[in-house]
Amino acid sequence: MGLKENIERVWDRVARAAGKAGRNPDEITLVAVTKTVPPEIIREAVALGLKDLGENRVQELLKKQPLLSDLGINWHLIGHLQRNKVKHVFNRVKLIHSLDSIELARELDKRAGSAGSVVDVLVEVNVAQESTKFGLFLEQVPSFLKEVVGFDHLRILGLMTVAPLVNDPEEVRPVFRRLRELAREVEALRLPKVEMRYLSMGMSNDFEVAIEEGSNMVRIGTAIFGPRE
Ligand SMILES: *Cc1c(COP(=O)(O)O)cnc(C)c1O
Repeated sequence: MGLKENIERVWDRVARAAGKAGRNPDEITLVAVTKTVPPEIIREAVALGLKDLGENRVQELLKKQPLLSDLGINWHLIGHLQRNKVKHVFNRVKLIHSLDSIELARELDKRAGSAGSVVDVLVEVNVAQESTKFGLFLEQVPSFLKEVVGFDHLRILGLMTVAPLVNDPEEVRPVFRRLRELAREVEALRLPKVEMRYLSMGMSNDFEVAIEEGSNMVRIGTAIFGPRE
């Protein structure tokens, strides 16, 4: 299967899932996950209409970015971010999906402050409380957000989760539903500089269910670029 067909098929599935939920597919951002994908292939994917690309490792992002800087890509950092890497990326990506600690928030705020900028982030939530995953637990999020409100150079634009890997995506429907409910609870708090604009949830295995449950940002690698070793 070629790249073009894969992309068409993913858009088709996104549109169908959105339709099923009575939503407009145009409001869903497709973040193509390009980890381990070589720059030449990324270039083809961009030519085929993909604009938002996600990398999970800072090192790899920094290597690829200069090779593709002519393409006007919106880069997303979707993997865990270590504090000592913040200075390399805070102003090189459109959105960081993986804010998961106060220490990281403080470092992002400090770097953005010195640069006179603002960093847009999503809070990563480990809904299923898996020990192998990063992210805050659901019940930690409200107090976490009340704390980061004090950081002037940080803008919270939503929530992100990576659901457990299961054979039948129906099994993780409650995970996505819980994250959407949490976003509603957060909205009700009316915190300054906290906006629930994006719900980043859904990957190759489960994005249709995620969209049905309210996702408006899906992160898809395998279904576009094929399986990686
Ligand atoms: C790799 C990755 C994805 C994409 O996963 P696929 O199953 O290949 O679609 C999405 N989100 C994160 C955080 C990832 O690391």
